This record gives sequence, C-alpha cells and structure tokens, in this order.
Amino acid sequence: MKNSVLPWLDETAKRLPNKLALQDISGNITYQEYRSKSLAIAYKIVELNKGEMKKPVVVYLEKGKEVLVSFMGVAYSGCFYSPIDTEMPPSRVNKILEVLKPEIVITTNKLKTNFEKFNFYGSYIIYEETICSEEDETAVKPYTEKIVDTDLLYVLFTSGSTGVPKGVSICHRSVIDYIDWVTETFNITQKDTFGNQAPFYFDNSILDIYSCMKMGATLNIIPKKLFFQPVPLLEYIKYNKINTIFWVPSALIVVSKLKAFRNVDLSDTLKRVLFCGEVMPNKQLNIWRKFLPNVTYANLYGPTEITDACTYYIVDREFSDDEPLPIGIPMSNTDILVLNDEDKLVTDDEVGELCVRGTSLAMGYYNNPEKTRSAFVQNPLNKAVPEIIYRTGDLGRYNEYREIIYISRKDFQIKHLGHRIELGEIETAISSLEEVTLNCCLYDEKNQRIVLFVDAQVDRDYIKERIEKLVPEYMIPGKVIYLENMPINANGKIDRIKLKELM
Ligand code: AMP
Repeated sequence: MKNSVLPWLDETAKRLPNKLALQDISGNITYQEYRSKSLAIAYKIVELNKGEMKKPVVVYLEKGKEVLVSFMGVAYSGCFYSPIDTEMPPSRVNKILEVLKPEIVITTNKLKTNFEKFNFYGSYIIYEETICSEEDETAVKPYTEKIVDTDLLYVLFTSGSTGVPKGVSICHRSVIDYIDWVTETFNITQKDTFGNQAPFYFDNSILDIYSCMKMGATLNIIPKKLFFQPVPLLEYIKYNKINTIFWVPSALIVVSKLKAFRNVDLSDTLKRVLFCGEVMPNKQLNIWRKFLPNVTYANLYGPTEITDACTYYIVDREFSDDEPLPIGIPMSNTDILVLNDEDKLVTDDEVGELCVRGTSLAMGYYNNPEKTRSAFVQNPLNKAVPEIIYRTGDLGRYNEYREIIYISRKDFQIKHLGHRIELGEIETAISSLEEVTLNCCLYDEKNQRIVLFVDAQVDRDYIKERIEKLVPEYMIPGKVIYLENMPINANGKIDRIKLKELM
C-alpha cells in the first residue's frame, strides 16, 4: 500500500536513474536529478515550516520542468502545492491568496518582483538558489514517511460563479487510484514519451505528470507557441519521438482544421491520442482518424473535482460527422450515477445529472465549506451510512450500448418558447457542417433568442437550411455571429464568458 505518490519517483529514480524524465526548451533532466532536486526543495520547506506539515505552498514559476520539480519538493515535505499562473490578473491572484493563506512561495528571483505586488507576506524559496546536498534525503525522510494517503497533494483553483475561485483539494490516494487506472488501461511503459499540452494549473496535466513518473516514461513539455502553428507542432512531435498526447480537443482541432498531417507524416510516431475537457466533435476526430488510422483514440471525461477524469471511451467504431462521441463508461473503482430531477437513477435514454462516487472525489473546496456542501452531497440512494457523491452539473444519458453520452452543462439547459433545450445539442448539429470548426451557442434571455457564435462566414438562413433536418425548428439559432477567432480561455477551451459579452 502506498501512502503517497512519492514512491513512484523514488522507485523510478532508483530503477532508471539516467533516463530522461523531463524535457523542455531549456533542457532535460534525468529521473535521478528530478528526485534529488525535489528533495533539495523539500529540505528548504521543512526548514521554513519548523516541522509543520500539511500546509499550502504556492508554486509561481513559468511553465517548465522546474514547476514539476517544485511540486514534488512540496510533496516530499508533507505539504501540498498550488500552482499560480504567472499570467493571471493580480486581482484573481489576491483572491486565491486570501483563500489559501500560504506562508511559502516557490519562485525565481525574476518573478519574485511580480509576486511582491500581491498580498503575500510569507517566505520565498528561490528556485535557482536551491542547491542539492547529501543531507536533504535524511532531513526530509521523517516528514515524507508521516504522510497518509488522505493528505492533500495539491489544490487547483477553478472559476467560481460568485467570482471567488474555488480551490479543488485532491489527496494522494485519488491520484494513485487514477494513475493506476491510466497506466494499466493504456499500457504505459518506460519506452513512452508524452507530449504535454495542459498547463500545470489545469487538471489534465495530472495524467501526464504522474503516468510518466510512475512508469519512467519521458515527459516532453511542448512549447506553448507551437499550439498556434500546426505544422511546426507536428514536426516537433516527430523530432522528439512523442508517441502519446493528452490534449484538450481545441488543441487537436487546430491540427485537423489545417489538415497539417499532409505536411508531416506521424504514422510511425504517434501511438495514443487522448483528450478531455470539452466536447470533441466527430467531424474533427474523423480527420485525425483518416490520416492516422492506427492510433488509439480515447475520449476522457470529468471535472477537476474528481481528479481529472472519471469516464472514458476508447474509440472502437465509426461515427458520422454529426453523431456525438460517447464519454463512455466509468473508470475502474469509480461509479457514475445518472440522476433525474427526483434524484432517482434514469431509465432508458432519460437525461440526468452525472454524479460521481468513489476514491477520485476531491476532499472539497479549500476553506469553503459552503460551496463544498452544495456540490459534495450525501448519495440520495444511500440512506444507511454517510456517503458523499459529487454532483458535476453535467447532463448525460445512456445510448443503446450503455455508454454515456454527454449532453451539456446543466446550466446550459434553457427554456425557449416553452421547450426544454440543451444548447449542446444545437452545437453538435452545427459542428457537423463542413465549413464550421468551432461553434458555441448561448441564450439571450432579454431578447429570448438563441445566439450562435461560429468561425465560418455563414448566415442564419444558411444555418437554418442545413440543420433543420437535425434539430427541431425551435432550436434554430435566432442570431448568428461570425468570429474569425473564437476566444479561448486559459485552459484552452472556448471562453463562454467572453462570448457572453459579445452577445
Ligand atoms: P474542468 O474542471 O476544467 O476539467 O472542466 C470540467 C468540465 O468540462 C466538465 O464538467 C464538462 O462540462 C467538461 N468536459 C470535460 N471532459 C469532457 C468531455 N470529454 N466531453 C464533453 N465535456 C467535457
């Protein structure tokens, strides 16, 4: 039994000391270096904490291998990490600091000047000034050994509807459970190289970081700017022999939209293409499948609150462009309850809210009992003992294969002209049109109409003519707004808040 994720790094560093662990534009480090540098960071934390554990430590660094070394340093000290994006607006950083109340920040001399402008009065660990020493391991060991698997490993902040970011608090056990599933399901080994896209403050990165660490695979942190240049991006994958990627659909779409595969052949390079975080339109996936038919494709689904993902669908059959791709079935040791408005399990193809049960559940929102209570609730089907489920706020239904089909967010469910409509259904229909790559529908309450944002120069009559066979008349958008570039949020998804402002 593991009490933390750290035995993964210990064992891999012992087994494969000289194996490339992390690669980024500034260089590479081996597993041995990864571990010893993390222990050096841990030693500093232990010193500053004077023996206290289970405290938040902020990591404020540019994306790169140093972030992951710092994460592990925090973990070895028996504390938990919380990354803050260096591009985040100051007001939001201050809100996070107010919730987290950290006493230590890991940063660089250069970034420290920035951080000093925020409401933080604790201690700094300057990354480049930490020097490895032989004493680190002995000094840190007693703290690492005291960790229990329900202690927090990290807190990731997600947006909160009230404007106060919510700190999703995840313990070691949830990550162990999830990564065991990932590595077994996709047969990850030390021979694999992952190409990371997800920012480290976004939960998709958990799969990359810990699958590699557990198995001794290499994690290549792809430079962010390449995600706007499909051909150089594919060349980078080929050159670095990246065989596994786990990206948000928007990043995959950038490649399929320009059919960049025509310029770079990845058929001998890529083995697994996994995605999570938003709907993957089959029209785009079909382009990937056409050019790279031998790759394993998998659609993972889940919110941060259940440790990255809780259902999966390994693509095993053909889909037409206008069909939805299933989010599939629960991962092992996870249960999904699809509950209707009366909190009963749905029957047949009835739509209900996806609720999650199991070890993957977060411990709650950090320092926010009220929000925790409203999302992490007693399982209505269990009257006998306390048992918490997480209400995702996502709607889904079963298809004829008993796979779950994602429909939309519960809050994207609208009433229009008396009809109950899921905006996601209209988006799926529109995404099948060949000239459309990205689209998003919002509801304009004031004018009582559905507004479609689309990245193709099409008008309402055209949309009507093309989708009236796919959706009922009352679902046809009343207004169409063409946007050459869809706004994308920090996590790489369509930015609905920005679109609302354009409505
Ligand atoms: P986040 O907490 O940022 O990972 O966002 C989680 C939300 O993204 C979920 O509650 C869903 O609404 C959406 N989502 C995640 N994965 C998928 C998927 N495979 N298909 C459709 N929506 C998804």
